[in-house]
Amino acid sequence: MSSPSPRNPDLHCHSNVSDGTLAPDELARRAHAQGVDLWALTDHDELSGLPEAQRTAEALGMRFVPGVEISVSFAAQTVHIVALDIDPTHTELVNGLQQIRAGRDQRARDMAAALENHLGIDDVYAGALRYAGNPALLSRTHFARLLVEQGICRQTHEVFGRFLTPGKPGYVEHEWACLDDALTWIRAAGGVAVIAHPGRYRFSAAEEWALFDRFKSLGGQGIEVVTGSHTASQARKYARLSLEFGFYASRGSDFHSPGESICDLGRLATLPADLAPVWDLLH
Ligand code: AMP
Ligand code: MN
Ligand code: MN
Ligand code: MN
Repeated sequence: MSSPSPRNPDLHCHSNVSDGTLAPDELARRAHAQGVDLWALTDHDELSGLPEAQRTAEALGMRFVPGVEISVSFAAQTVHIVALDIDPTHTELVNGLQQIRAGRDQRARDMAAALENHLGIDDVYAGALRYAGNPALLSRTHFARLLVEQGICRQTHEVFGRFLTPGKPGYVEHEWACLDDALTWIRAAGGVAVIAHPGRYRFSAAEEWALFDRFKSLGGQGIEVVTGSHTASQARKYARLSLEFGFYASRGSDFHSPGESICDLGRLATLPADLAPVWDLLH
């Protein structure tokens, strides 16, 4: 980018359009108040929060990057690809995301049935939908909020650990987009693809290598090194791997909610100085 390097970029977070709790304009205000000077909104598989986020960000004098976090299946796991600097009106991207969202409602119904059966409770689907607002955006986070509301767990991350992760009673296998399609849409829409929170996947070293290699061969350029869910040692590991693969490094909180997220907007370590920052690729 030709403008000065950002001091406090945050290129990953969620509004209440997906599974965050703040509206896009509240999120923009919070990012600005936390000193973020280059900000991306990256809702899951959905673009509709971007205009409001952009309007508020620009009114506050904060540089804005339109983004989205795309759900992908790779080697039998879910992988998230953050797309930055996309044209949110590009038909191929818009249609691709619409296809992904179309699978969420049936998955949510299956999750609800599994949780009702396991916990002996009723109306789980309707309860989660109250949190999501839109059946096409129903996410595990909405179920987690419902189970906290019902007193079954104290915190959303406890719900994930007990019920919503692979092997647990409320987890439902799901086929998201394939990596090749996601990269095609991102590139068609002029965006930069970034592997989100690599430290969260449960891949073997060989599977992880295969993901990075395939991602790179499909034109993927970035990887999150500093993100809310990485430990310091994970940040070091992915800093090393980003150099090894020639990836640009990204930094993003993955903030969802003041009550739930440990890492607030902009409250992250700086990127190691020897890495090429992904914002060098942004307009
Ligand atoms: P979904 O797209 O419905 O599979 O939901 C994925 C979302 O669940 C992620 O984007 C996170 O916001 C949230 N999530 C996943 N794992 C955890 C966890 N262990 N603790 C808290 N939230 C989680
Ligand atoms: Mn989320
Ligand atoms: Mn994610
Ligand atoms: Mn995220």
